[in-house]
Amino acid sequence: MLEERGLRASSGAGLSGVGILFVDVDNFKAVNDTYGHRVGDAVLAEFARRLLGCARSTDSVVRLGGDEFAFLLVNVDAVTACAVAKQVLDSLRAPFQHDGHELNLGATIGLAMGEDVSEEDELSAVEVLLRHADAAMLRAKLEGKGRLGRIIARREPSRFAREAHIRRRLPHVLSDAALSLHYQPVRDLATDEDAGVEALLRWTDRDLGTIAPDEFIPVAEHTGEIHRIGAWVIDRACAQARSWIDAGTPRKIAVNVSPLQLATGTLIGDIRSAMMRHNVPARMLEIEITEGAAIVDVPGAAGQLRELIDSGLGVALDDYGAAYSSLSMLRSLPLTTVKIDRTLINEIDTDPYLATIVGELIHMFKALGLRATAEGVERPTQLAVLRGLDCDTAQGYLISRPKPAADFPAAATTAAQNNEGQTGTELPL
Ligand code: C2E
Ligand code: MG
Ligand code: MG
Repeated sequence: MLEERGLRASSGAGLSGVGILFVDVDNFKAVNDTYGHRVGDAVLAEFARRLLGCARSTDSVVRLGGDEFAFLLVNVDAVTACAVAKQVLDSLRAPFQHDGHELNLGATIGLAMGEDVSEEDELSAVEVLLRHADAAMLRAKLEGKGRLGRIIARREPSRFAREAHIRRRLPHVLSDAALSLHYQPVRDLATDEDAGVEALLRWTDRDLGTIAPDEFIPVAEHTGEIHRIGAWVIDRACAQARSWIDAGTPRKIAVNVSPLQLATGTLIGDIRSAMMRHNVPARMLEIEITEGAAIVDVPGAAGQLRELIDSGLGVALDDYGAAYSSLSMLRSLPLTTVKIDRTLINEIDTDPYLATIVGELIHMFKALGLRATAEGVERPTQLAVLRGLDCDTAQGYLISRPKPAADFPAAATTAAQNNEGQTGTELPL
């Protein structure tokens, strides 16, 4: 629709005089998480009304989906387009009222001008312009929300184009079968046997090649795709757990979970149905959550984690010691394991001070009844220190890199196997 209007508007004169404002609501996820979807929808409707109020008679405003909108401006130069964008930002200054709640909502805007798009780009016209505006918005967001960013397409840094590409492609990754899971073994330091594996998501894109989860998970969290992707990961991990049980090599699988899956309350249902579908006992599964600002409703999250632990799953706090770690999360979240972040493990064999800190952490986790796993172990000397500190399990390139399920030995002796025998028929949860 935007495409048609843009072409009609530019009618043979290329895209000169055409501008697109890509408008993205700041922190809209937090509105939904805090006040619920009903308030979120009402606020979005008011947001759209305010946008329309800024449109000139020749402009078109469309909702691109979620909390993203676009303005198609015709017969404008960059100065006029910026003036419209500024007017949009101004129109959002008054708080949004709904159901007795008063909310402050900002937006970040990306601008792309037709004249900045290179010759060959004009072939796909408005779609290309829209992508440039999207990239400009992302860059502006990185520089601080509630801003206007303008991008000159020819000089656009590839990083932002890449993120815009990832956002456009994400909704199709499942139907394109572009995702897969790799598994990284976790070693039990007391028995020297494998204690299980961690499932790690891999995306192979036909244009960009391999895209790391650290790059696309935050984008999926922003666009909401994380819910479908998260449910897919749980389903595939359960299917793999079942096929390893059937092969006589049961391995406990740890699955990474986004705090957003906890926030919407879909996690337990997704886990329960996948376990039933594949007939996987609860003790063969663990979930890993990364603590951080993203856990908005701590008591709500705690209730769900408790339910999972009570039904037999493990719950690990991931990346402990990285950016957001705090003692209060250890206190308020029910857990069975803490994974010590690789940044703390990295110099454990050369820095005695660090070794003391990690030793005390492990000591504290044990006193709280939690198991300790060291992440990112790359050298035998690190492993030796960890053994001396009584760490329960370790994971890292030294033991094994993450690899596809097919690369695991067919009849490995695993700790899980010793405990599990052939008990795979038990009904989960
Ligand atoms: P994580 O859960 O802390 O996973 C460990 C990361 O460290 C993995 O990166 C792994 O490949 C890497 N790693 C393991 N051993 C070593 C080592 O010895 N040295 C170094 N330098 N790195 C090591 P990966 O696979 O790129 O995943 C990055 C992060 O993405 C994960 O960190 C996790 O937070 C997230 N992630 C991965 N899969 C999923 C998923 O299915 N769902 C969600 N929500 N997040 C996921
Ligand atoms: Mg993890
Ligand atoms: Mg980790």
